[in-house]
Amino acid sequence: MTIFEKILNKEIPTELVYEDEKVIAFNDISPQAEIHLLFIHKEKSENINDLMDKNPEQVKDLYHAIQKHTRAIGLDKTGFRVVTNLGPHGGQTVFYTHFHVLGGEQLGFFGRA
Ligand code: AMP
Repeated sequence: MTIFEKILNKEIPTELVYEDEKVIAFNDISPQAEIHLLFIHKEKSENINDLMDKNPEQVKDLYHAIQKHTRAIGLDKTGFRVVTNLGPHGGQTVFYTHFHVLGGEQLGFFGRA
């Protein structure tokens, strides 16, 4: 079981910053920006390609949650970045699909280190 399933099952107590019927969001434990949130769907998939195979509607659920929450906290006004990593070259470490939302400060370029 991945750490995000444990968070969903409340085996690891984590403060949720957002929850609706289908999606939860919480703060990244190792923030890479002033604001660094992780959005996950309550139905499991391993990565974005697996999610698209299983139920592409989940992308809409996740972006709906991101839209709602970023508007609620005013992050849409200053801007933010959404990232999802897949596999070793993408830097994925938790094999439960998640969307990083980064903002709260000017972000740098990304890509090659
Ligand atoms: P990725 O490397 O794209 O798979 O992202 C996994 C993210 O999960 C990393 O940014 C980690 O800092 C974050 N993370 C790992 N464990 C936890 C946890 N218990 N609570 C919150 N974030 C976590």
